[in-house]
Amino acid sequence: MNIHEFQAKQLFEKYGVATPKGFPATTVAEAKDVAAGLGASHLVVKAQIHAGGRGKGMFTSGFKGGVQLCDSTQQAAEVAGKMLGQTLVTHQTGPAGRVVNTVLIAESVEIEKEFYFAILMDRGIAGPLIIASTEGGVEIEKVAEEMPHRILREPIHPTLGLQAYQARKIAKRLGFTSAQMPKAAKIFLTIYELFIACDCSMVEVNPLVITKTGDVLALDAKFNFDDNALFRHPDVAAFRDIAEEDPREVEASKSNLNYIGLDGNIACLVNGAGLAMATMDIVKYHGGEPANFLDVGGGATEQQVTEAFKILIADEKVKTILVNIFGGIMRCDVIAQGIINAVKAVSLPVPLVVRLEGTNVELGKKLLAESGLPIQTANGLTEAATLAVAAAKQQA
Ligand code: GDP
Ligand code: MG
Repeated sequence: MNIHEFQAKQLFEKYGVATPKGFPATTVAEAKDVAAGLGASHLVVKAQIHAGGRGKGMFTSGFKGGVQLCDSTQQAAEVAGKMLGQTLVTHQTGPAGRVVNTVLIAESVEIEKEFYFAILMDRGIAGPLIIASTEGGVEIEKVAEEMPHRILREPIHPTLGLQAYQARKIAKRLGFTSAQMPKAAKIFLTIYELFIACDCSMVEVNPLVITKTGDVLALDAKFNFDDNALFRHPDVAAFRDIAEEDPREVEASKSNLNYIGLDGNIACLVNGAGLAMATMDIVKYHGGEPANFLDVGGGATEQQVTEAFKILIADEKVKTILVNIFGGIMRCDVIAQGIINAVKAVSLPVPLVVRLEGTNVELGKKLLAESGLPIQTANGLTEAATLAVAAAKQQA
């Protein structure tokens, strides 16, 4: 799960991570109140969307930049008016952009230097990893490509945590002076504390800055949380903004389906994550493009299968549905009956290819064949993929 920058700010404040004061606003009037309340002569207004690159982004209205420096309450309110309700396109949003429903209004600081600082769970080292760079404010992917030597990596012991000497070492390698060192080390340690306490999978602060007055502050924040640990953090879960999520994924999560929307036209309905991955691979291998990853789980109910079909056909891009189910925990005849009932309930507008394997598979296939429904049954994964790809091509 991702959160907005203004929500990240609340977490920063809770854990003592130094950050400029700021609050959200959803209307121009509110923006004016927030700006006046801050009582600062220099302000920054920032569009709140779950995507980076806002500073260099462009509104479809023609207004340039989702991060604007302002010198008065009046100006901040005007800028907020140009952002709220508008669509912001950045290199991370795709051409469709995102609608800005909230802006963050914060005190603006005078920046001496920008840094990049992130902590993430790294599969390679099986633990937290700090990634930092003197090249802040720019995309880290670009730095990695053009100046890989400017990126430093510090693995952290998963049970001992970030040690003070490591925090000082990072600060030194980033070029902080001895006088700045304590502030830099403190912000690294507090960000780490927050990262662990909230079960984050990533915290990215870009830029982390040193100001002209010598303060070290987190100026931007992108958080990623481990969804499986969200139940331990109701306060974080409450930050969820459904407007920022793929509507197909929101529907699927209501039925406890593991669904991830993709760009292709062959919808896949599969039980088990591994089989779902293999199904997507074989669809691609035969020249097709999967429309989604969907794992209905080992013990999917008929109701879940029906919901799954509804989500798949609601996607206009879908031209064919491929069901690939291994009847291990469930029997194939039960699954076949579930599919038949679900298909009848939703009246499918696209071809359906079904591949069943496992317990009672013959009986399952017989039920599908006798259902009178236009279902193509396949023997084996290759045939299933070939049939699905052919059907999608015919529909396209
Ligand atoms: P992003 O473009 O979505 O990553 O948004 P950021 O919050 O990182 O802002 C983009 C850039 O705007 C930063 O790299 C800074 O250079 C600048 N910026 C952001 N906040 C402030 C601020 O309070 N004061 C000043 N002077 N610049 C800021
Ligand atoms: Mg940034």
